[in-house]
Amino acid sequence: MPHMTPASPSPGAATRDFLTQEHGLFIGGKWATALAGKRFDVFDPATGERIATAAAGEAADIDAAVAAARAAFNGPWAKFTAAERGKVIWKLAELIERHAQELAELEVLDNGQPLAVAQYVVNHIVPEFFRYYAGWPTKIEGATIPTSPQGRRPGEVLSFTLREPLGVVGAITPWNAPLPMLMVKLAPVLATGCTLVLKPAELTPLTALRVAQLAAEAGVPDGVFNVVTGFGETAGAALAAHPGVDKIAFTGSTEVGRSIVRAAAGNLKKVSLELGGKSPVIVFPDAVLEQVIPGAARACFFLQGQNCMAGTRLYVHEKVHDRVVDGVARIARGMQLGHGLDPASQFGPLISAEQRERVRGFVEAGRREGGELVCGGTAPERPGWFFEPTVFARMHADMTPVKNEIFGPVLCVQSFGDDELERVAAEANATIYGLSGSVWTRDIGLAMQMVRRIDSGQVSVNMHAALDPAMPFGGNRQSGWGREFGKEGLEPYLKTKGVSVAW
Ligand code: NAP
Ligand code: MG
Repeated sequence: MPHMTPASPSPGAATRDFLTQEHGLFIGGKWATALAGKRFDVFDPATGERIATAAAGEAADIDAAVAAARAAFNGPWAKFTAAERGKVIWKLAELIERHAQELAELEVLDNGQPLAVAQYVVNHIVPEFFRYYAGWPTKIEGATIPTSPQGRRPGEVLSFTLREPLGVVGAITPWNAPLPMLMVKLAPVLATGCTLVLKPAELTPLTALRVAQLAAEAGVPDGVFNVVTGFGETAGAALAAHPGVDKIAFTGSTEVGRSIVRAAAGNLKKVSLELGGKSPVIVFPDAVLEQVIPGAARACFFLQGQNCMAGTRLYVHEKVHDRVVDGVARIARGMQLGHGLDPASQFGPLISAEQRERVRGFVEAGRREGGELVCGGTAPERPGWFFEPTVFARMHADMTPVKNEIFGPVLCVQSFGDDELERVAAEANATIYGLSGSVWTRDIGLAMQMVRRIDSGQVSVNMHAALDPAMPFGGNRQSGWGREFGKEGLEPYLKTKGVSVAW
């Protein structure tokens, strides 16, 4: 049984001050109330208590935000030089660092993650990502092309490509990592000279509102970054269908991703999708178990398993199976569950009561279908939406928890023997997803064979989910369309114009 820490410690003065403000929508550089006047409650998932309210934007508010984004795109933002855009992005990174403690506390209260995780995100991941993209505006280049259209001879025509910002972008993001989700949309939008209307998840709207203030302070012109808080079915759907939006950048579930594609069909806006995952972690018998065991535990239980890259299917060679399962279960049992603001807490709550019921349903299915419950499997008796880190052994490919993305702390272990490489590789790819995956071995040849066989957008060797701002990230199959991060992450926000000049 994991340890529990006592009740919630209180956040600092800046965070308390932010929570008491009546937050509006951020449109055209100003705070606005939702036109229909509706608001919704924001909860701390570690206590179940209401901590703030936010404005419930709807279609009319999306109209206003898109109009502001269009005006900024055609107006002041288009006059910024590439170097000036880079400077603004860099400044935003600095402001995020300066307000790191407040942002981290807001993220903890909104999402439930442990403070140490939020602090790492706010002090390292987010500013480093913005700084990486701050270097790009001055390096977005077209090409000169050796053409001969309509019988022109060399010297009679000059052809080149222009790389232009795509226009007004709508972004819709999930609740599992609110700040990183915002960062992966906002940084390339600013780098390319696009403008943005962001609809953050209704469950976690707070840090986006704070970053909107910081972006304005960094010199991002009014209307370049707009935030419309609200629900997916209203604000989100209106954004995805809006005829004035040139591109939709969506991160969330595969199911909602499909509805985004349908909604985007009206004006055939460009679409990029970062969707679900069910990533394999494959352990060969020569792997360094002192690294495998904590690595596999972290791969699954980071963010309470509410992580698109989560390594939720663990395939372990039978020679080391028992040691790995025992080791991972020992870590799971020893995890300190508690309020994220308690420094002793290592494992937070799930995002909502509904999400906890969903996870519980998958655990019950695993039991019913004959999985061996090694640890966890229940929700502790305390306020908040906690669920214990859970390990199932003796699973197989057709069991419900193995086939579906649970988005919770449930690890499914299967074993394999010698000469079963083909089977493991086939099973690794036997879900609708293809987002992440890892292979653990000291045999570099074997590792490279597996890297080739795993059909996902990311494969790591002797680590899991190796993210870096410079490394493209995205999903194969039903895990998504397109790539974010790195140079490739600029592409969805650019359009190419071929220009030929005759004289
Ligand atoms: P979700 O239910 O798909 O929601 C994602 C966002 O879409 C939320 O802002 C939601 O709004 C909005 N939305 C819901 N219905 C909509 C509609 N009909 N039209 C437009 N927008 C709509 O996903 P989630 O439960 O928040 O997040 C978990 C999922 O995200 C998992 O599947 C996970 O794997 C995936 N994810 C993927 C990545 C990646 O990079 N590949 C990263 C993180 C998470 P409201 O919730 O506010 O109503
Ligand atoms: Mg919340």
